Amino acid sequence: MGRWSTFFAALTCICLAACGHSSSPESGGQGTASPQAATFPPAPSPETTGGFDGARAYKHVEQLVAIGPHAAGSEGIHRAQAYIVSQLKSFGCPVEEQDFHATSTPIGDVAMKNILVKIPSTNPNILIFSSHYDTKRVDNFVGADDGGSSTGVLLELARLLCARKNAETIWLAFFDGEEDFNLNWSSRDDTYGSRELAASLAVSGNLKHVKAMILVDMVGPTNPIYRRDANSTPWLVELVWTTAARLGYGKVFVNDANAMEDDHIPFVQRGVPSADIIDFENSVLEYWHTPHDTLDKIDPRTLAITGHVLIESVPELEKRIK
Ligand SMILES: [Zn+2]
Repeated sequence: MGRWSTFFAALTCICLAACGHSSSPESGGQGTASPQAATFPPAPSPETTGGFDGARAYKHVEQLVAIGPHAAGSEGIHRAQAYIVSQLKSFGCPVEEQDFHATSTPIGDVAMKNILVKIPSTNPNILIFSSHYDTKRVDNFVGADDGGSSTGVLLELARLLCARKNAETIWLAFFDGEEDFNLNWSSRDDTYGSRELAASLAVSGNLKHVKAMILVDMVGPTNPIYRRDANSTPWLVELVWTTAARLGYGKVFVNDANAMEDDHIPFVQRGVPSADIIDFENSVLEYWHTPHDTLDKIDPRTLAITGHVLIESVPELEKRIK
């Protein structure tokens, strides 16, 4: 997650100041800069979460963290790409690599890669589930929650969706370059991967077939709070949050609002119904974009809840977009 709306930023800054918290590496968080084993209970059984295996999702996060920092354009991101592609292929998913160049970043031309899974069906309607997999360009930053958690959830979702016949065409998008380079740059400096996919869909004429785009980002902490994002499409937020409430997760998917700027915005701007599922609470802000965003922050149960809601949202979407 790169940034958030000004209104919410102001609120957050007030609260952080009032609470005496800081997001600096020296004073923030409870953990250390080195990855640690989680102290949380194991994930719930997949039988209780729609077949979604939180333990498998957690294992992916662990592997991505073990790769080390993997910012866009870094050496590490090639290892993250290799891991994601190999896992997807092991699930029997059809994998496409969308290579492109971000030509005017603060560090110049950067080669980037979106990793796409396009699960075919006879129905031209497309549903997209997405996450960014790059990590923030901060020293010793491994992004267990910011980049890792959502990528782990998306990989486990891929295992389930690629193994079955779906009534709609489903795409999974692993975005590169979500994080900004943040070197006193005044122009647009984030969401490179999602902007590239949205633009390429517009050029190919496929954009009109995309009926829903659901983004997950920072979906790993214990006791998560997912607020309704005011920048998302209301009917799609309603569908996902109603599904969550039906599954008993009303205290996770709450009715309070926030306003996020994230990889869903390029799709919103092009008229694609989109929703962002993200935990951006003060507990998270203690380690957000610091070396404290480590594996010990990741609760397998949160991954399982998030995945459960995503997999159960599929039939609801199929009903809605006939
Ligand atoms: Zn971020």
